[in-house]
Amino acid sequence: MRKLASIQRIKVLEPIEGADAIEKATVLGWQLVVKKGEFQVGDLCIYVEIDSILPEKPAYEFLRNKNFRIKTIRLRGQISQGICFPLDFLPTDFEIIEDKDCTDTLEIIKYEPAIPAHLAGLMKGGFPSFIPKTDETRVQVLQDLLDKYAGTKCYVTEKLDGSSATFYWKDGEFGACSRNLELVKDEKNTFWKVAETLQLEEKLKSLNGNFALQGELVGEGIQGNKLNIRGQTVIFFNLFDIDNHQFLSFEVLKERLKSLDLAFVPVLSEDYMLGNDISKIVEMAKIKSTHNPLAWAEGIVIRPIEETSDRSFTNQLEFGGRLSFKAINPEFLIKFGE
Ligand code: AMP
Ligand code: MN
Repeated sequence: MRKLASIQRIKVLEPIEGADAIEKATVLGWQLVVKKGEFQVGDLCIYVEIDSILPEKPAYEFLRNKNFRIKTIRLRGQISQGICFPLDFLPTDFEIIEDKDCTDTLEIIKYEPAIPAHLAGLMKGGFPSFIPKTDETRVQVLQDLLDKYAGTKCYVTEKLDGSSATFYWKDGEFGACSRNLELVKDEKNTFWKVAETLQLEEKLKSLNGNFALQGELVGEGIQGNKLNIRGQTVIFFNLFDIDNHQFLSFEVLKERLKSLDLAFVPVLSEDYMLGNDISKIVEMAKIKSTHNPLAWAEGIVIRPIEETSDRSFTNQLEFGGRLSFKAINPEFLIKFGE
């Protein structure tokens, strides 16, 4: 679904103070450093997002020391996210259309952090088809959506850098899932251990219906535990009504988590009027964590107070166009080499 590489237009080119050989380009809502003179404003290029892994080919040899992965970097004080290649990196028969996906053509894959053994567990099956997988679109590709929904009242939560966890109760059965799999019940597996500690089966059952709770598994041994959380726990951000196939609204989610005595991701604002300036939203993400004032937060997630879905954005947003997206803190990405 996510376009890691696509045909995009150079929107703006600006000088970088003290740099002669490079300049700052704006592509979609991303800012990146390019070689001076390589592109002109209005040119089409191939834009490749951070988290892309390029194939081991001579043209990408300069990325070998980065294991061919595109990361956030800082050059001459300028944060640079992604990379632009000229169109002739594409096969000659590739039809050039603005916004067209060329991820597969260029054999680009997404970088996924390895899941440590205690987390991985044994696979019971694929991810349950009756629950949406968790994911968030990056704000940098959502200019049209921001223009359409500017002024909508939203809530903003801190994005936690752990591992996605889903727990459900359906027709008398309880299940625990990692980001992409359902896991066999096992006392040694962290997802199941946490489910036990938080009494998630009993709590889900008490909702008197078929529901899924989704959150971020955080703490010791998980993603480097950058927030220095003691032990391990899950902090929740979604309550999904399986029978009605819908996410419950912010107010309901907040109220249910409270009555079940489960943690909600830190709520940074409940009355943010959505703006349409992507760089301002990225600035909002440059914050320290609520859980640890010494550590950079990974970023923020923005959602409307009232659950909103828009079919015209099914290509950009998850779950058939659910309004929900992330802005990652560039300082966090630089600090952790991502
Ligand atoms: P990423 O980790 O970059 O793939 O971004 C999407 C993931 O962020 C989701 O799948 C969740 O597991 C996770 N996440 C962490 N904090 C939040 C939050 N506050 N709201 C929604 N998702 C979150
Ligand atoms: Mn993550």
